[in-house]
Amino acid sequence: MIRQVHEPGICGQCGGCVSFCFAGDLVAIEMGADGKPHYLDENNCLECGICFLICPQINILDEEIQSKYNWEPPIGSYKHIISATTTEQDIKNVCSDGGVVTSILVYLLEHKLIDGAIVSVSDGPFGRKPIIATTKEKIISAAGSRFIGRSNIEELGNFTTYSQTMFALREIKNLDMLKIAVVGTPCQVHTIRKMQYLGVMPAHVVKYVIGLFCLENFSFGPDKIQEVEETLGLGINEIKKINLKEDFIITTNSGEVRHIPLSELEKVARPACFACTDYANDFADISVGGIGSPEGYSTVVIRNELGQKVYSSALRNGYIKELETGKELDQGSSLMSTENGIFLSSKGRKDLIKKFAWFKRKRGIKTLENILSQEEVIDLMVEHEKKQIVEQYSQ
Ligand SMILES: Cc1cc2nc3c(=O)[nH]c(=O)nc-3n(C[C@H](O)[C@H](O)[C@H](O)COP(=O)(O)OP(=O)(O)OC[C@H]3O[C@@H](n4cnc5c(N)ncnc54)[C@H](O)[C@@H]3O)c2cc1C
Ligand code: SF4
Ligand code: SF4
Ligand code: SF4
Repeated sequence: MIRQVHEPGICGQCGGCVSFCFAGDLVAIEMGADGKPHYLDENNCLECGICFLICPQINILDEEIQSKYNWEPPIGSYKHIISATTTEQDIKNVCSDGGVVTSILVYLLEHKLIDGAIVSVSDGPFGRKPIIATTKEKIISAAGSRFIGRSNIEELGNFTTYSQTMFALREIKNLDMLKIAVVGTPCQVHTIRKMQYLGVMPAHVVKYVIGLFCLENFSFGPDKIQEVEETLGLGINEIKKINLKEDFIITTNSGEVRHIPLSELEKVARPACFACTDYANDFADISVGGIGSPEGYSTVVIRNELGQKVYSSALRNGYIKELETGKELDQGSSLMSTENGIFLSSKGRKDLIKKFAWFKRKRGIKTLENILSQEEVIDLMVEHEKKQIVEQYSQ
């Protein structure tokens, strides 16, 4: 792990290795002041290899996980891709896109299908921290990306939109919870799926995984604030809400909406994200993003039987509703016409997600080419993908 993750600088500081180290009580490894794991006492290490196997930056279990979830590039296996929105005004007021993530969690909680959910609440400007939510109010408090409780930014230290969800999962070990849902980015979902595959506790209590699409997360220290503010064209304390779709979207305190090209924020994207190849959260039960749906709606990828069951029940019980289906402008068109306007058709939505997913896979593999051996990079690709990657590169 030191050679493949730390030395090349792609540790995402997720904390998974430290949280689930088998030498937990002996404390073999800990998170250092630099936010990265290091040995506290190498002699305490049991050499079990768990930290290595579950690290999201290590691809050693990819084949097993891919085959378990019938994965195919670029967006994994899925049953349906739909645009949907919440039916509850309290969620609509605060959510990122259509509030589908929050509504599904509330449905699961109110129907006693979960004891709680790991979600991430805003923690100051560009900050996010995981919590275990056991009430509807707490679940709703994590919706969207609003910046509440403004602080003196100079006192805040480092900014990161990345949430260390794995630390909350570790806390579950000490709680009497048997059924939980987790909302996470693709890297976090990879770790959970690997833990489940290996039987690492407490991954067995994770009954539902709702994944977010993710192109990248941002991280920067106080020294970069001025640069970021210049790029955004406003002070960090003037931001009310952020979102990521085709570009970076800011809503200011005065309600103005600004779109910033992602290329302009590359300088503060986390280095680990450039080595990441999963955009559409390919191993979740349900993946949710904003692209491809009209304002106020979430794009929902239902991936498996479990995801389908949960989504359909939430729909049937009135927690969410779908975007009306329209008439495709032409046969197989990317656009459809509805009474309320023209939107992307189901094909258009799928094609857009695939476009971003290919972009991210190519970017990730390119980064890994500089880190891993050629054989290791080729190992990352499946036959079908190698052909498509070559085709994409040649376009
Ligand atoms: C870092 C990040 C990058 C993203 N990139 C894209 C993208 O490129 N394209 C795209 O279409 N969509 C992206 N999304 C997803 C999008 O922003 C919405 O979260 C998604 O559409 C769900 O919207 P919603 O209204 O249904 O969710 P809501 O009902 O608002 O619920 C959002 C849920 O996300 C959780 N959450 C918020 N931030 C984090 C975080 N940092 N880590 C883990 N969980 C978190 C909250 O706990 C909450 O449960 C990204 C999200 C994040 C957090
Ligand atoms: S190999 Fe096992 S005991 Fe050693 S640091 Fe990793 S998880 Fe801990
Ligand atoms: S990415 Fe996460 S699991 Fe891997 S080394 Fe870094 S902190 Fe540990
Ligand atoms: S881009 Fe990848 S590594 Fe970065 S936060 Fe998203 S899923 Fe994790």
